[in-house]
Amino acid sequence: MGKPGKRLPVRGGDRRPARVRPYSLTGGRTRFGHVLLVETFVGATAALEAAEERKELTNGNLASRVTPEMRAIVVLCRRMRTVAEIAALLRMPLGYFSRTYDLVLVSAGKGELVQMFARDAERSPYSEPQRALAVAYVHGLGPRPEHPDMEAVRCNLVPGVGEMFVMPTFTTSGRADILFWEGVPGGPLDAFEDVRDPAEHLSLTLEPMERFLPWEYARATEVELTDAGGTLAGRYAPTVRNPVGRLPSGGLVLGVADVVVADDPITGQGSNSASKCAAFYLASILEHGEEEFDEAWMQATFDRYWETARHVTKWTNAMLGPPPEHVLNLIGAAGQLQPVADRFANGFNDPADFENFFYDPKKTGGYLMEVSGASGA
Ligand SMILES: Cc1cc2nc3c(=O)[nH]c(=O)nc-3n(C[C@H](O)[C@H](O)[C@H](O)COP(=O)(O)OP(=O)(O)OC[C@H]3O[C@@H](n4cnc5c(N)ncnc54)[C@H](O)[C@@H]3O)c2cc1C
Repeated sequence: MGKPGKRLPVRGGDRRPARVRPYSLTGGRTRFGHVLLVETFVGATAALEAAEERKELTNGNLASRVTPEMRAIVVLCRRMRTVAEIAALLRMPLGYFSRTYDLVLVSAGKGELVQMFARDAERSPYSEPQRALAVAYVHGLGPRPEHPDMEAVRCNLVPGVGEMFVMPTFTTSGRADILFWEGVPGGPLDAFEDVRDPAEHLSLTLEPMERFLPWEYARATEVELTDAGGTLAGRYAPTVRNPVGRLPSGGLVLGVADVVVADDPITGQGSNSASKCAAFYLASILEHGEEEFDEAWMQATFDRYWETARHVTKWTNAMLGPPPEHVLNLIGAAGQLQPVADRFANGFNDPADFENFFYDPKKTGGYLMEVSGASGA
């Protein structure tokens, strides 16, 4: 909103406006004077006057006759803001967006908005959290002794107690490692819930490492938290939801990624799955052309993603239960036979393959016979 004759520069003004815009132009969309991309900066000048070409919005008197939304935008834009920032800060209700836009996607992770998407009981075998999660970002962890020069994730299974993942990462203070306990609820690792002090969180992380995983603890004697915000604890029930949410206004919205499929992080699949979900949705949007984004389209779009996601969910839920004997045999064999280790590791990339050798004891046995026969073991 600049003064007449004194326009702000329009970044990307030569780009075609996208068909699906994650933002709104208040005051109607019948025509627009500027191309506003989500990253376009908007600033309000001191004189509250409508631009010459938009006089009808205010009848020339912006201070008293503008819509509340526009007044709020002017106040927000006393400091330069992007269009995306303005939309977020205005906290416009979803009903507004569903009335205004062709399609509204809700990608609120595990935020409270997920409540508008009904739980799919058939696809959600657990109604309670299966792990208490506790994460600490640290500096000062020693290298892996067997491969000191190569970064890698280490996964430790402590039967009946939980799992520890040690993951190299980058954070604002540089290279770091994540010490991530997944504790069986009610067990010795389920101790972080009420801890508010980051130092206490770290010592609660290290104590069970010394007790159950002395080889990991040996690397961790010098660690310190990356910063006071370097810890996280919580839990949630792995849940698949109905992808279509109905707003009180009757409008429909489509859930994305964790909103619709929130698996436990035990298999570390969530971020990849979120990217795959976005890619499937984008393909469906582009293929749909000018058609309406109705409920049938929303369901079909999710179903397309679910064809991939269902394998992730099945495998992740299986990993949360006590491992059956044939899985223990498989993991044991992976320690001896490189092809088995490779196939298991590659399952993280394509969990659909677990159908062929992981769930069914007969298939696991057949596969292990085949590999050990081929290797002469
Ligand atoms: C402890 C833990 C460890 C994990 N480890 C791994 C791992 O190793 N590998 C892996 O791939 N995945 C891991 N995941 C899972 C991964 O983080 C998620 O699956 C992924 O981030 C989901 O992406 P998303 O975009 O759906 O949600 P998110 O990344 O959660 O993003 C949702 C965003 O929406 C915002 N939001 C919520 N409500 C609103 C609202 N009303 N208005 C505006 N914004 C809102 C939130 O603040 C958040 O920024 C882990 C998860 C946890 C909890």
